Amino acid sequence: MRVTLTQAKMIEMKEACQKLLTPGPCVIRSVASTIGKLVASFSGVQYGPLHYCQLEREKIAALRSHRGHFDRPMTLSNAAKTELLWWIKNVDSSYREISKGPFSCCITTDASGSGWGATNGVAQIGGRWNSLELVRAQHNETNYLEMVAVYHALRALCRTMHNTHVLVRIDNTTYCIPCDCAVTVSHILVDCREYSHIREKYYTVPDLKTLFQQTDPYLILDFLKESNLYRTF
Ligand SMILES: [Zn+2]
Repeated sequence: MRVTLTQAKMIEMKEACQKLLTPGPCVIRSVASTIGKLVASFSGVQYGPLHYCQLEREKIAALRSHRGHFDRPMTLSNAAKTELLWWIKNVDSSYREISKGPFSCCITTDASGSGWGATNGVAQIGGRWNSLELVRAQHNETNYLEMVAVYHALRALCRTMHNTHVLVRIDNTTYCIPCDCAVTVSHILVDCREYSHIREKYYTVPDLKTLFQQTDPYLILDFLKESNLYRTF
């Protein structure tokens, strides 16, 4: 069974995307409004989440440089325009499956700061990250290495499969590569050495309990804002 957008919604989305593609700068508010429409449609566009992040990043950057004023102009990059074009081209044929039916293969993967491993219950495979993968991990989202582990596992364990449903069980623990440990609330707010130079401007505490008992909550929020951690994790 599938969920699709209504015809009216599809037309509305295409018009909103098309509007942003007209030459010249656009207003931040209209970019934000279009992103809102894209996000609201995810329940009927299963690959939608893969095609809006650049727009979101550029909207945030524009808001930051205009101190939060939504009515200021911004210019979209070619990468952001490519995302809009994807929606215009694909929204008519997009859908989301409510159930994908039974799976024919189950893979379990795991990744850490040093390497990855995967199994399908019969064979096991794994390896260490190369230096390029580790550099890329530092410039991507925190679950980047988990995704690379899935990619390697699918290539190794599902090499001959086509048009089938594979269930991938991923360790969803977020990992802090610079500190080589799992990301927890305590790690973010107290321990992570990657952000200590920013944290020390607002507070220095030995543990989470002391933080919540003795620190002004606004200082904690200021630290999260300046370090951009609320977007990173
Ligand atoms: Zn850390």
